[in-house]
Amino acid sequence: MTQALYRGRFAPSPTGPLHFGSLITALGSYLDAKSQGGEWWLRIDDLDPPRVAPGAIDAILRAMEAYGLAWDGAVQYQRQRGEAYAAALAGLQGLGVVYACACSRREIADSSIGRPGAPVYPGICRAGLAPGKIARALRVDTRGACVDFADRLQGAVMQDLEREAGDFIVQRADGLFAYQLAAVVDDAELGITDIVRGADLLDSTLRQVYLRRLLDLPLPRYLHLPVAVNALGEKLSKQTLAPPLDMAHPQPALVQALRFLNHAPPQALEGAETREILAWAVQNWSVARIPAVRSMEPQI
Ligand SMILES: [Zn+2]
Repeated sequence: MTQALYRGRFAPSPTGPLHFGSLITALGSYLDAKSQGGEWWLRIDDLDPPRVAPGAIDAILRAMEAYGLAWDGAVQYQRQRGEAYAAALAGLQGLGVVYACACSRREIADSSIGRPGAPVYPGICRAGLAPGKIARALRVDTRGACVDFADRLQGAVMQDLEREAGDFIVQRADGLFAYQLAAVVDDAELGITDIVRGADLLDSTLRQVYLRRLLDLPLPRYLHLPVAVNALGEKLSKQTLAPPLDMAHPQPALVQALRFLNHAPPQALEGAETREILAWAVQNWSVARIPAVRSMEPQI
């Protein structure tokens, strides 16, 4: 298989149906790929079976179809990829950067060096487990890791991982692989060249960049879009009761999402078919038009 010059992906977690916030990410990612003649793949991040909502995968696929967001290739499912994640974890262990951690959530919160609600693990178990302690999760050592990358919209992004994120989990206490590891392995194996996601995931991207460097995987290009927030500054999500996308009438939300990305279609197109609106947006897509901020309130 020849490697595409541009291969993007949209990777929703099936914790519920798509809402306006997810539409912005899907649309930005789709338009960026299609405006460059690229491929656009769909991956269902169903790594954590208890969090998969009944019917959510089907609802996501139907919403993508209703909104005209046609993907290339077969849908990818993370739940089928355990062997690849195990191989990557073994690779990290071979580098001597993974260690077992016996700490409970409570112990970490009590000894955290981070902000309240965002505990930074201070490396308690790096030197080995205290007698009688049982290994729970596996963590990656972040000592000396200052990570940076150039984002196409947000500019230079950098972080002292040890101080600001801490040694993070690569395999959880319940045996599931951590999302950061799975995403890196999947993106690399599919040959994803461009990742377009919400700016709320910048911290997640920094951890993924670190894992890619450790595993000697090439870095994709990154574009972190502004995230839609409500009047309280909360991200639109299932938790903040963002309604599911209207499947019967996709045009209004589609136009609103384009407006959010500062790509409002001409008025003549507002009553047009979904595919005509999308065709216009592919033709007119320009990252330079997107507001270079991390979050914004949508205009109603
Ligand atoms: Zn620990």
